[in-house]
Amino acid sequence: MIKKIYIIGIGLIGGSFALELRKLFPKSKIIGIDNSENNLGKALELGIIDEKTIISQIKNPDIIIVSVPVKSIINLLPTILDCANNNTLIMDVGSTKNSICKIISDHPNRENFLATHPIAGTEFSGPTAAQEGLFKHKNIIVCDKDRTAKSKLQLGLKIFELMKMQISYMDSESHDKHIAYVSHLSHISSFMLGKTVMDEEKSEKNIFDMAGSGFESTVRLAKSSPEMWTDIIHDNKENIIKSLNDYIENLAKINCLIKNDRFEELESQLKSINYIKTILKGIN
Ligand code: NAP
Repeated sequence: MIKKIYIIGIGLIGGSFALELRKLFPKSKIIGIDNSENNLGKALELGIIDEKTIISQIKNPDIIIVSVPVKSIINLLPTILDCANNNTLIMDVGSTKNSICKIISDHPNRENFLATHPIAGTEFSGPTAAQEGLFKHKNIIVCDKDRTAKSKLQLGLKIFELMKMQISYMDSESHDKHIAYVSHLSHISSFMLGKTVMDEEKSEKNIFDMAGSGFESTVRLAKSSPEMWTDIIHDNKENIIKSLNDYIENLAKINCLIKNDRFEELESQLKSINYIKTILKGIN
């Protein structure tokens, strides 16, 4: 019987989890913990949480979701694991996994912890951005699952199934290597695309008037939280530098093809990259 659910970081992801968990466990109490009194107030007002508290007041937790930025997860997680009893499931949702798993690797309550990364989100932050159904049909990557006790793993997986998520498994080191390419690089390139256009186009009206759906959709990620992304880039620095170097090399190659009027080669490259349509078929 799940009676008490604590959500630490009641923003977009924590708030969206709270909305799902309320449907799954209607008799449980959802208690929010956050740095921001303003966000806690909004989460209470919106009915996302029932109560607020602080970490030192956590008592008899059945589930704890840790959904603060990555650097704060690393700082807080050992103390949060201290709060676990035999039955507690503690999950984080951070966008990087390796340092998070390392920091609690030898903690006596390591088996209570499940490392996850939901591949779902928007460019908005805070509890007002929380959405019911945010995770439906989205992927969730569960890392280092063999380090989690069977009963806690089963509870976590059951929750994701009931939320209609697709589950995949990875070790935390591979997660960070792959996610640097597929997610972190996209965010950096979107931020830099936004910068390149704003540096050249001094008129905001020009940008607005000429921004077709291509520019708007490619630059969407540049609306994301700078604080959250600085944390992620800092934590996954080595993998991101490698992915950026590969990307810069590809940009230099395409620049060279254009400069040297090698348009047949350019077209043939663009055609082969079109294969991404087949890979991403089915993602909305
Ligand atoms: P968010 O909307 O900004 O929410 C985070 C909340 O945590 C904010 O209310 C923030 O307060 C609070 N907070 C920050 N540091 C804290 C601390 N030390 N103690 C207590 N509360 C603290 O962020 P989010 O988008 O939900 O992201 C949360 C986690 O999910 C991150 O680890 C992120 O990497 C991961 N994630 C995000 C996405 C996405 O698309 N956004 C997708 C998958 C995973 P302040 O506003 O005052 O800082």
